[in-house]
Amino acid sequence: MPRFLCDHCRLPLTGPLTKVRLPPPVPMSEIPGIRTRPARMPRGTYARNLQASDFGIEVPGFTVHPDDVIGTEQHPDVMRSIGCCQGSSGTDGPNLVCMGCASEVGTRQADCYTDNQVILDPRAVCLSFAED
Ligand SMILES: [Zn+2]
Ligand SMILES: [Zn+2]
Repeated sequence: MPRFLCDHCRLPLTGPLTKVRLPPPVPMSEIPGIRTRPARMPRGTYARNLQASDFGIEVPGFTVHPDDVIGTEQHPDVMRSIGCCQGSSGTDGPNLVCMGCASEVGTRQADCYTDNQVILDPRAVCLSFAED
């Protein structure tokens, strides 16, 4: 199964993933106090999202489950990781960098008005089909 690598330094950014169709957005939680939605993607999958939404909250790229992302850390610019509630909105630019070379590789979203997901930037990552 393929995994995503940093295009710059080839560090694995995810575990092995299966391609699926992009699931629809998860509705906002109706439970008071729970502001971050359940993850949009099933574990172990990725989907291509080429659509930027009218409201600018859908980030185009490869959408993955946050727990499948292993090779990134938070962007040093904390302004990239702010949001309305508990999570980052991801609307201020990439907020995840490669742990190996600090390239901007993706965007973590987990705010009340976004899905709970990570979007990898197609310009900064590549798919590797090599066996490990
Ligand atoms: Zn909020
Ligand atoms: Zn890297």
